[in-house]
Amino acid sequence: MQIPTTTLWIPPDIHAELMYYAWKVDAEVGGLGRLVFDQENNDIFVEELYLIEQEVHQTECTLSAEGTAKLYEELIANDEADKIGQLSLWWHSHKNMQAKFSTTDDECMRTWPGQYVVSLVVNRKGEMTASLTTKSPILVVGEIDVEVNWLDPYNVDFLEKDVEAKVSIVKPKYNTTPIKKKQEQLTSETKKTHNMTDAEWVDEEVKEWASMGYTVSHGYDKWDDWDTVNAQLEAEERKYWKEMGK
Ligand SMILES: [Zn+2]
Repeated sequence: MQIPTTTLWIPPDIHAELMYYAWKVDAEVGGLGRLVFDQENNDIFVEELYLIEQEVHQTECTLSAEGTAKLYEELIANDEADKIGQLSLWWHSHKNMQAKFSTTDDECMRTWPGQYVVSLVVNRKGEMTASLTTKSPILVVGEIDVEVNWLDPYNVDFLEKDVEAKVSIVKPKYNTTPIKKKQEQLTSETKKTHNMTDAEWVDEEVKEWASMGYTVSHGYDKWDDWDTVNAQLEAEERKYWKEMGK
């Protein structure tokens, strides 16, 4: 059986919010987040972050029940009660410390009021660790991957059009793969014939080309082969221009 992997995907703007909180608050600040689960790919997406009212300490972060209750009330008042069920992300910052769960953090996850919680810890360097804790049917805690989804900024439509309009990737003038293969084959044959090591081969080639005023790292000592390769390159190039002319 192939073990499924899970990634917690964070959009760049939410990543920026996390970093802002981590840098702005000179203590371990934390809150909740709204998640969407992609069951087809076994991945998790962070949709929204919420900072909750809290008294922060330098070294520990436990979410206050009052702060959480206040957030629920706000959502209900804003006609967003349906979001409450999706608040299964617990995030917090470790400031300048390692972004690894502490024993206090482990305890928070173990005693989480819901059936499951996705935990995320970040630090000011941008390091992140995430885990998934589920309590049903038994307690299981597993580390999951966490990534910023750089291809999903808030203004992706604009950026995408901008890139399409201004950037084109230059394709090689002709397909050099067959030539490269031929070169590799000739190199290997020559080395075998002369019983040369890779280093000796390179040395010989460099010497030969240097004597003609070229700076190269490898080449050919069989001139007939070199002519064959050149002829092939020219044929490829002719084919390319013919294709282009169609
Ligand atoms: Zn912590």
